[in-house]
Amino acid sequence: MISISSVKKQFQKKLINIFPISEILAIWRRWVVKEILKKTFLDSILDEDKTISNKENKKINLLIEHLLSNQPVQYFFGYSYFKNLKFYINDSVLIPRPETEELVDLVIKESIKKLPNCIIDIGTGSGCIAIVLKKKIKSKMIALDISESALSQASKNAHNHDVDIEFNKIDILSLDDYQLLPKIDYIVSNPPYVTRSEISRNSIIHSEPHNAIFVPDKHPLIFYESILRLANRNLNIGGKIFFEINPKFVSELVNMIKNYRFFNIEIHKDFFGKKRFIIVSS
Ligand code: GLN
Repeated sequence: MISISSVKKQFQKKLINIFPISEILAIWRRWVVKEILKKTFLDSILDEDKTISNKENKKINLLIEHLLSNQPVQYFFGYSYFKNLKFYINDSVLIPRPETEELVDLVIKESIKKLPNCIIDIGTGSGCIAIVLKKKIKSKMIALDISESALSQASKNAHNHDVDIEFNKIDILSLDDYQLLPKIDYIVSNPPYVTRSEISRNSIIHSEPHNAIFVPDKHPLIFYESILRLANRNLNIGGKIFFEINPKFVSELVNMIKNYRFFNIEIHKDFFGKKRFIIVSS
């Protein structure tokens, strides 16, 4: 039998060589305490002399092994949280990021001014954007992805959250029949936008699906261009595009958007102060 305080010490000791202490403590608090010990952080401190079960101890040890193999903590549990909702994930989808919660907030804020009829989420992955939006905005919701397994994960999540979304397998990069999609009021997308050259070789990001993250160094805006092409055909007058973006390419992207004849462009920063979102109004 082992107490919470000793298991916490072991947890830190085993991981300290590969993770910064702040990250170890965050994983301890967010995942071990909440998801394995099923306690609040405060209770875990008040109860630090209490022992944990063998089963809990075993699970913590398995988690340590998983982390030591440089895998994201969310893959161990098979789920993550986004806007306080639980999303099942696997290695075919991007793990929902906190900055994307801010993208969703921007969309919700706009929709309060005027309710859109139809929203489309391009590159839906786990479905987190489309599902949260559908819960908050009573519009028709369409979600696209190129990956069959991402779409199946997203529809499971939609089912769990009891929302009605039309999922469609479409490769946005080779979409040429624009009539496959209806006229749209809002396009929302967090497409792949990271170039390999900005990520170190041993970064944990490499365990996530590369086709959800990386873009060619030579064409970092390839997805935005395809989405703008779709917007030119299918976006209603008064419609909007909400992009999550790579802060490195803001000015190139703004120029590209103008080339597609959209001139009403707002740039928004994320909570780290990075230029992370663009809203385009038609
Ligand atoms: N924001 C994610 C990251 O930096 C990447 C998301 C994306 O490529 N759309 O890890």
